[in-house]
Amino acid sequence: MRWSPKLRPNGWDGLAAAIVLLLAAACAGMLWGRGAATGGELEVVVSIDGGEVERFVPTDSAGEKTYTSRGYTLHVLVRDGGVEVSQADCPTQDCVHTGWIGRAGESIVCLPARVIIQLVRTDGGSDPGGVDVVIG
Ligand SMILES: [Zn+2]
Repeated sequence: MRWSPKLRPNGWDGLAAAIVLLLAAACAGMLWGRGAATGGELEVVVSIDGGEVERFVPTDSAGEKTYTSRGYTLHVLVRDGGVEVSQADCPTQDCVHTGWIGRAGESIVCLPARVIIQLVRTDGGSDPGGVDVVIG
């Protein structure tokens, strides 16, 4: 290894390094806050065919809900601050097999019925453009 004659970092290098570190920390902080972090209330967002049809707080809405789309009926059970598809007449049953979800960022997708049930947080981690599920 060859050493450069100027081993001591000058002031600008130090400043640049500090800025990079600060930016990295800020980015990490934003990502951290977007996940299952503290604060905010958990909300369930139900979308059918790409459009939001209902949004509710699971802890306030315990019970069963029913959604019908494309000839299929999904029975959604709201319990323990989360949701699950308890019964559906879709052919794949993927939504039923997903089971109960109760954390921000989790979702249940029923492809045949084009129903998406997502858990989001109300404190900004839930921008509508953040939906990255592609259904086909
Ligand atoms: Zn299904």
